[in-house]
Amino acid sequence: MVKILYGKPVAEKIDEGTAKNSNRGKIAILLPDEPSSASYRQAIEKKASKLNIEVVSSADEANGVIGETIDPAKDIDCQTPENLGKLFAGVPLYKPATAEAVIQLLKYYDVELPEKNIVVIGRSTVVGKPLAHLLLEENATVTICHSKTKNISRFTKIADIIISAAGKPGLVTADMVNENSIVIDVGTNFVEGKMVGDVDFENVSKVASAISPVPGGVGPVTTSVLLSQAAKSAMLKL
Ligand code: NAD
Repeated sequence: MVKILYGKPVAEKIDEGTAKNSNRGKIAILLPDEPSSASYRQAIEKKASKLNIEVVSSADEANGVIGETIDPAKDIDCQTPENLGKLFAGVPLYKPATAEAVIQLLKYYDVELPEKNIVVIGRSTVVGKPLAHLLLEENATVTICHSKTKNISRFTKIADIIISAAGKPGLVTADMVNENSIVIDVGTNFVEGKMVGDVDFENVSKVASAISPVPGGVGPVTTSVLLSQAAKSAMLKL
């Protein structure tokens, strides 16, 4: 029986920690005008309101900023070259929220990472590359597959954990996994107005040992990680 790795309890645990910070600050969200950004923005705004984190429209007023052209001190999604440099040098100020969300999700469900053979599909600076780095820090052995990788299934079939962050619906199919596979779906795609991941959930869940759903998997954990870093930024008063 496949185990479903829901993000909700992970997100709630992170939110509890965030709520303990007395000064939770203000955030500004500067994202492009597209469907996946709109749902991301809505999710951040909803959770921020629950956590008493004010969403402001100007980066000047905010402690933490999500989006482009950011002061590194306020870059709570770790997207500036300076903060990515710190991350890769092993002295992170913040961590990229989605990559860290995957780590938190796996740890919450007691998935051991040291010595595991992990395939990350996707090599963006937002998700794939920083995630591979965080997994290396956990002593996993990491393979990064991407749009130019030939025959991805030869890597995924022998992996303990498969994490897809490609933004391609239906990319990970049942024949690419085995009965011990743990499958984490980062993809947030819109097909006929419906949010779907990269993984063929219906069929992969019949083979794999554990799988995260979309929606309801990595997504809520990402917003919680982001807002915990907003609270950190407000506490540090950078
Ligand atoms: P991106 O487009 O910047 O990068 C996609 C990566 O996938 C690229 O490195 C590319 O080489 C690889 N790729 C594309 N097609 C492929 C294929 N057919 N086979 C193998 N690799 C392929 O996207 P991104 O910003 O890294 O986001 C990836 C996905 O994760 C998107 O669906 C995005 O919406 C989603 N996302 C989700 C969250 C969340 O909280 N759940 C947060 C950020 C991004």
